[in-house]
Amino acid sequence: MKYYILFGPPGAGKGTHAGAIAQKYNLKHLSTGELLRAEIAAGTELGLKAKDLISAGSLVPDEVVEGMIENAFESIKGVDGFLLDGFPRTLPQAEALDAILSKRGEKVNGVISIMIPDSLVFERIAGRAKIEGRADDASPEVIAHRIQTYHNQTEPLKEYYRAAGNYYEVNGYPGTIEENRNRVLALVETII
Ligand code: AMP
Repeated sequence: MKYYILFGPPGAGKGTHAGAIAQKYNLKHLSTGELLRAEIAAGTELGLKAKDLISAGSLVPDEVVEGMIENAFESIKGVDGFLLDGFPRTLPQAEALDAILSKRGEKVNGVISIMIPDSLVFERIAGRAKIEGRADDASPEVIAHRIQTYHNQTEPLKEYYRAAGNYYEVNGYPGTIEENRNRVLALVETII
């Protein structure tokens, strides 16, 4: 099995491009944000616990998402690998992922990092808010907090994966969605 990470700030286009990558290489797209939103929609205990943190633009506890990812690795069959989107987001999560994979005799095969400037994050999320209606897209304060959380807690992972020798970066702008997708797919083709 192959394990790839889609990395980048909110609004970089991870979710927008994940489907095309997953389909082309027979990977299961796993978005922790989507899994958490499904738990909230289903009204589960986990969803109830996560709801306020997500609406405030804060991260949910590491153990919650680590458990979701490990369950998915165990239960999902019939694919050549996984495309992780929005996980890991903290150093402890990255270390937990390495531990989960090493138990299975596997490793992270590549980190596909889509980069956009902070100014574009606001623009993209404001546009998405009108279409998807996500609670955490609605207020400028929450968006600002998510950007800050990304810089403080998630961005250090670049160095973690650079040191591991499997970090690959591509610009998620400028251009149309299709132009950006083609740029991302061209990078992926060189690493997969
Ligand atoms: P996303 O759909 O990736 O933008 O995630 C939406 C929200 O879900 C985030 O702002 C966090 O509150 C929560 N979330 C998603 N993935 C993680 C993660 N790996 N660690 C902690 N919280 C997460």
